[in-house]
Amino acid sequence: MNSVSAFGVRSATDSVSPLKIERRNPGPNDVVIQVEYCGICHSDIHQVRNEWGGSTYPMVPGHEIVGHVTAIGKKVKKFKVGQPVGVGCFVDSCRKCAACKDHEEQYCEVHTSYTYSSTEQDKKTPTYGGYSRQIVVDQNYVLKISPKLPLDKVAPLLCAGITTYSPLKKFGVKKGNKVAVVGLGGLGHMGVKLAKAMGAEVTVLSTSMNKEKDARRLGAKYFYSTKDEKTFSELAGHFHFILDTVSASHDVNAYLNLLRRNGTMILVGVPPEATPVHAHTLIGKRRRLVGSLIGGIKETQEMLDFCAKKKIVSDVEVIPAQKINEAYERTLKGDVKFRFVIDCSTI
Ligand code: NAP
Ligand code: ZN
Ligand code: ZN
Repeated sequence: MNSVSAFGVRSATDSVSPLKIERRNPGPNDVVIQVEYCGICHSDIHQVRNEWGGSTYPMVPGHEIVGHVTAIGKKVKKFKVGQPVGVGCFVDSCRKCAACKDHEEQYCEVHTSYTYSSTEQDKKTPTYGGYSRQIVVDQNYVLKISPKLPLDKVAPLLCAGITTYSPLKKFGVKKGNKVAVVGLGGLGHMGVKLAKAMGAEVTVLSTSMNKEKDARRLGAKYFYSTKDEKTFSELAGHFHFILDTVSASHDVNAYLNLLRRNGTMILVGVPPEATPVHAHTLIGKRRRLVGSLIGGIKETQEMLDFCAKKKIVSDVEVIPAQKINEAYERTLKGDVKFRFVIDCSTI
């Protein structure tokens, strides 16, 4: 075992502070990664504070991990020492079930080993995330990153990027489709960039009027305030797709009404509370309400390659680890453009 410096919490009421964790010695299929940057996803905040239930402590959050390979096991063929790599929201899965065979390991029917607040496949050994100096991951769950892209700006692609790319692709966003992105945060800003790159006409629906200029710079053609009642009458029946990235409670029905016939609203935001849905809102125009969880390894690699080709990266504010708690508070206030990324050399 190897003692590694990290930042994390010991309970749901703790603030994020330094702690030590143990990483395993690399097995034949393992890749040892020196973590350079790790994004702060709103899911980190939900889980640190146990807002979804089921959190385990001590917790080292972080699942938008990028760095360089420092060592490889004997059987590792896919990676070389010195290569830039990434790790996303999970580090292993059963590899045998229908979901795993379909390259959708995030929906593993047996046990997905999430990157943190979870366990390895033995269902005993805790996993610790990317707010740390080093991580050891099986080669089949490590992603290749183009050396041409700036690593700090790539980190958020490992969660915010794939979480928005996967449903836009899966549910068939096409050139010319009218796509609304609700909530312009970490996920939302990647949703705008990716939907635009897929040829969609993008509208941002936001509670923050001061984000309009940025929304247009990121690729949105239109911007509307959701605090203005008129937005909901003016845009009724307008969109082919709505990508809902909102992290807090809101009225889903109000947004469903903005879908045209056969339109699809994709939930990716995970507010802690449930929300009622009126059957009428769906039935009237044969609308669909769907959800989507991150993406599989194969699709994540496809997304990273797509972003490298199109030169798409995240807009980030790099912070030292000592400012993580401040960054959490600013994220909760919507004061972030558009992802905080930890410089892990400060851990
Ligand atoms: P974020 O950066 O905090 O962005 C969320 C945005 O939602 C905010 O910037 C804000 O945008 C909007 N918002 C916040 N509170 C709101 C409210 N009360 N009413 C309306 N809008 C509100 O968070 P994130 O990292 O993008 O994550 C968003 C959500 O997705 C979180 O719940 C997270 O856990 C979840 N998530 C899901 C997956 C998945 O696989 N499905 C993956 C990653 C994250 P405006 O200022 O523009 O209104
Ligand atoms: Zn995330
Ligand atoms: Zn499986």
